[in-house]
Amino acid sequence: MTPPPILCLEALSKGYGTNLPAAVEGVNLTLAQGELLALLGPSGCGKTTLLRLIAGFERPQTGTIRLAGQTVCGSTWLPPEKRDVGLVFQDYALFPHLTVEKNVAFGLHPRWGRRRLTPAQIHQVTAEAIALVGLTGLAGRYPHELSGGQQQRVALARALAPRPALILLDEPFSNLDVQVRAYLRQEVRDILKQVQASGIFVTHDQEEALSIADRLAVMRQGRIEQWGTPEEIYHNPASRFVAGFVTQANFLPAHRQGLGWATELGYFERILPAQEIAEDGAINQGELMIRQEDLHLEVWESGPLRIKSRQFLGREYQYGLLTPSGQTLYARLPTKPAMAVGDVVRPVIQPERVRLYPRLESTLPTPTLNPLSTPA
Ligand code: ADP
Ligand code: MG
Repeated sequence: MTPPPILCLEALSKGYGTNLPAAVEGVNLTLAQGELLALLGPSGCGKTTLLRLIAGFERPQTGTIRLAGQTVCGSTWLPPEKRDVGLVFQDYALFPHLTVEKNVAFGLHPRWGRRRLTPAQIHQVTAEAIALVGLTGLAGRYPHELSGGQQQRVALARALAPRPALILLDEPFSNLDVQVRAYLRQEVRDILKQVQASGIFVTHDQEEALSIADRLAVMRQGRIEQWGTPEEIYHNPASRFVAGFVTQANFLPAHRQGLGWATELGYFERILPAQEIAEDGAINQGELMIRQEDLHLEVWESGPLRIKSRQFLGREYQYGLLTPSGQTLYARLPTKPAMAVGDVVRPVIQPERVRLYPRLESTLPTPTLNPLSTPA
């Protein structure tokens, strides 16, 4: 039997003013026990507002929140300190005048904690939490004596120590440099999994979201536009917005011609259209999504693409390619065989890897169509 969800949001809406668009609009979401959900979306789309609603720092205009089997917003209202939630913020929010140990123990204080602990128990739980995040030996240090990555681990230990039903992390890695970010995100995932914590993790970084989440919710203008596993979303983005935000793919203007679609790189048949196009046969203008790793190249004298840049990324090159109309496309390919800047190439694309999305007619540039050359 599957256990009941740890969190259940229904029709949650929150606006900050009558003349402003809602910051969170009609959000429905469930989180299973032990699941790690990444909330991904551009700045200003409502991610922080949604976390603040769950934590109880904001009251929604409509909607209900059930947390660990209890209604915390709806027919009843529970203030933040009564909700069984741990929080980790972007800026760590540690107390500068308290040691690591005192920072971590803070949430366990008998006055605040839901569990009544003796001083000896507090000491033990604190030591365990500090060990869990790999900071044993640093318990007596002050925050200014730690690196950014270590401070964020302290914040995580503090949030986890009371073993909350749910942990909320708001862009926890965005103040850290790239290298620390890459390993800390994996470590944080491992730690959360080790203690079987349920968590929501907010980010505007698609790579971060794809790499650490069990499930992903992509937000746009206060709404959840798509929800699924990272693989489902990456392989089948539900909309042009999700496709652009999550895959960093190329988008090539296309128009319907017979059973296929004509583009400046040739004619494509057997393309899987996004739902909007499949349902509306009248849509004749679209954009083909071609992921960078699916745009293969072949040196070809009369090819439609010219390599204008090549960037070495270690295991692969990223090529910048100029189309006849002047659009730049990107391809990520193995370093062998290497092609050179200035080479003229043709695309080799498997049609089943390509997706088609609708495009607004008003924003369409007129592509130079080349229906005769069919990408192999
Ligand atoms: P995100 O975390 O995705 O960047 P936020 O939830 O912070 O987005 O903000 C969503 C929208 O709500 C934005 O348009 C923002 O300007 C607005 N907003 C957030 N907090 C407030 C507030 N306290 N008062 C008024 N508007 C706010
Ligand atoms: Mg935010």
